[in-house]
Amino acid sequence: MFFILLGAPGAGKGTQADIIVKEMSLPHVASGDLFRHALKNGTELGKQAESYMKAGNLVPDGITIKMILERIAQPDCNDGCVFDGFPRTLDQAKALDAALEKQGKSIEKAIYIEVPESALLDRLTGRFVCRTCQTPYHKKNSPPKKEGVCDKCSGELYQRADDKEETIKERLKVYFAQTMPLLDYYNKKGRLFRVNGNQHIDQVGKDIVKFLRGLKQKK
Ligand code: ADP
Ligand code: ADP
Ligand code: ZN
Repeated sequence: MFFILLGAPGAGKGTQADIIVKEMSLPHVASGDLFRHALKNGTELGKQAESYMKAGNLVPDGITIKMILERIAQPDCNDGCVFDGFPRTLDQAKALDAALEKQGKSIEKAIYIEVPESALLDRLTGRFVCRTCQTPYHKKNSPPKKEGVCDKCSGELYQRADDKEETIKERLKVYFAQTMPLLDYYNKKGRLFRVNGNQHIDQVGKDIVKFLRGLKQKK
């Protein structure tokens, strides 16, 4: 089963991905993590993506789609995966549908984490991410047990270069212009599930798990 996590930057996609991955036993495919990994390793892909990421713009569709299709061609994605941060444009969504269709597969659900715009800036400016396992934390909402250290893997927490106010504002603009239309796209296909993301992290997770268990029972 292929799932998509939809929502604005800061909605809680990375935070909730963990729960879905565990509940469904599927790999987590996060486009932003893949780009940051490439950047850190100085690969050709990283060089191509760097300027766009720094400015808070989208990496061009051609580069992004190629990266994702290569990722899901790996054997661990044979039975599905949880997409996080992809697709972000209509062309990406259409390319993904076409690629899956060729293999007789399709998107099961797009899980839309709905959060009012007013909450996003605070979430993103307070975010710290583990360098090793990419788990997101928040200085007030979701602090680690020990400052600067990941609860899960003891990795070092850092603040992303694009989590500064100016770049966040650009990313939000891009989200409303280019990614919001995907809600309509998946809704029309009967594939959209909305969850209220403006609740405690645990409650958002519980709502998602309840939905997934209902889905499994119907199968
Ligand atoms: P967030 O979780 O805060 O929304 P991501 O980690 O998903 O951010 O993405 C960080 C950056 O990586 C984006 O601002 C963009 O430059 C690039 N990126 C990630 N996913 C995509 C995508 N599907 N299409 C184009 N660019 C992307
Ligand atoms: P995304 O992947 O959608 O960009 P993240 O999962 O990285 O978002 O979450 C963004 C920030 O908001 C993180 O610092 C995270 O700890 C925090 N956060 C996530 N979900 C909630 C929530 N329900 N309430 C408050 N803060 C949250
Ligand atoms: Zn970690």
